[in-house]
Amino acid sequence: MNAPAVAIDWNAVRADFPLLTREVHGKPLIYFDSANTGQKPEAVIAAVDDFYRRHNANVSRAVHALGTEATEAYEGARTKLAKFLNVRADELVLCSGTTFALNLVAYSWALPRLRPGDAIVLTRMEHHANIVPWQLVAQRTGATIKVAEIDELGQLDLPQLYSLLTPEVKLLALTHVSNVLGTVNPVREICREARKRGIVSLIDGSQAAPHRALDIAAIGCDFYAITGHKMNGPTGTGALWARREHLAQMPPFLGGGEMIKEVRFEGTVFNDAPHKFEAGTPNIAGFVGLGAAVDYLSALGMSHIEAREQALLDYATRALSEVPGLRIFGRAPEKAAVISFLVEGAHAHDLATLLDLEGVAIRSGHHCAHPLMHHFGVPATCRASLAYYNTFDEVDAFVAALTKVRTLLA
Ligand code: PLP
Repeated sequence: MNAPAVAIDWNAVRADFPLLTREVHGKPLIYFDSANTGQKPEAVIAAVDDFYRRHNANVSRAVHALGTEATEAYEGARTKLAKFLNVRADELVLCSGTTFALNLVAYSWALPRLRPGDAIVLTRMEHHANIVPWQLVAQRTGATIKVAEIDELGQLDLPQLYSLLTPEVKLLALTHVSNVLGTVNPVREICREARKRGIVSLIDGSQAAPHRALDIAAIGCDFYAITGHKMNGPTGTGALWARREHLAQMPPFLGGGEMIKEVRFEGTVFNDAPHKFEAGTPNIAGFVGLGAAVDYLSALGMSHIEAREQALLDYATRALSEVPGLRIFGRAPEKAAVISFLVEGAHAHDLATLLDLEGVAIRSGHHCAHPLMHHFGVPATCRASLAYYNTFDEVDAFVAALTKVRTLLA
């Protein structure tokens, strides 16, 4: 992480987010659930609004002016996103989010390739979106799943992970940043080890893309998935980046309009990648909004965002460590601004419900990570996830509210 080059007025940045001015249960909202979904700046809301007011038409079909404008706006978003991720635009499949992206790889790349005796390596800290598609593939192909474990800090046990990368392993799929522990995995090093052994690697970047500068080309993976709503963009947007050679070999996942060159009853000639994976009318306005989100994040600078969130994380971790009976799950040195915790004697949902009454929105539950909950022997945790638009005062108010509700439950 580079040191911030310029001072940013974070209060002015916060003012860009209309929702953050509202109250909940008569208290100022403290939104600490950005790992679940990010809030949207005015620029994103305005871009979606402007698209529907002035440019709405379908893409790649109509020759009229609006059709051209809509197509340019949609393809413009692809170009912006590709630049943001440092990849080629023609290697970026636009889709509804990470879940779709991972299923696309599962059905289109893995299903036709994997055989009985093959193996897929996952890690203990995966989101269900990066577990269940591989279980479906394993059931249908006879492949098996092996799991890389974590240490007491919530980091991947790298020697154990590398020991799993044996010749029968065809795919290694892991998250860049854990949505529960906040752990930032050394994906560059891990993908290098996979590549050395001829293993294809896939990174779930859902929790990385909103918080740090990404250079997918430098990571050296084969597939990288992102989801737009966590990047301050609209829901129902996301992307899969894949190496060109994979996209060329993968059959389409869904058939329909937009993904073809010519259709006859005798057979169909598919469009080139990435369009052959984008059947049907896409979420055009959503991608226009995601393009605006990428502009917004880029203007702030991802190194500034990362530094701001790191400062908030350090401050919040110190403050929470003072709360009696509070246990934090995940203390990796390389960590994003996600703090999972439990307070002795209090159920996670009770804590989150009482905090909601204080205006504090945190998540409680299994965070779509059952295997990680099993590892810790708990059914649920609370999770406070911070973003650059949060403030140190909010952290203070959150800790004060937590201290108050904790005594109600004790
Ligand atoms: N992977 C991780 C690490 C996540 O945190 C999430 C969402 O919480 C997903 C995948 C799924 O993303 P989406 O529901 O946007 O497809």
